[in-house]
Amino acid sequence: MQPAPLTMLLAFLDVQKWRPHSKRRGGRDIRLFTLETGSCEGCAMELITLGGSAYPLEGSGFERVQHPQDADWLLVTGAVTRSSAGGLASVWEAMPPGRSLIAIGDCAYNGGLWGSNYTTLGGIAALSRVYSTIPGCPPSPEAILHALVELAEGGSSSTVSQESSASRRSRQ
Ligand code: SF4
Repeated sequence: MQPAPLTMLLAFLDVQKWRPHSKRRGGRDIRLFTLETGSCEGCAMELITLGGSAYPLEGSGFERVQHPQDADWLLVTGAVTRSSAGGLASVWEAMPPGRSLIAIGDCAYNGGLWGSNYTTLGGIAALSRVYSTIPGCPPSPEAILHALVELAEGGSSSTVSQESSASRRSRQ
């Protein structure tokens, strides 16, 4: 059996084929599977707030699914740790063709506060040149929802505000 980091690297080579601007498929909602790989869970908490009346994820053309086999998009929060790498690769490999990968927050993008060290491999950016990311530490629920809608409609996540919840709260 291959060591987890190598398994993950091989799985992520497939990301080179990823199309960042996936249109909604056949008029149905885009199915999302979320995965926390290793972090303070700040980004994961912001993701959890999506779906209520304030941030209507489901009403915006998305649906959360419980199994990667059912998912169109994989939303990753947290740095990729050596212990989570194998699980991340397994989730990615289980998703059907046409899958897309989106990094939520700075840790998922480049390792954030944790960087790359003896416990982490850094973020997804260290593994592939092709990805989409919603930056921030953490990105606000508004920013996440706005970016997802923008991507679904064929826009670019690069237009997403980099304002974090922390900076937003500091002005309140
Ligand atoms: S980007 Fe910031 S809030 Fe998100 S998991 Fe990393 S440290 Fe936590």
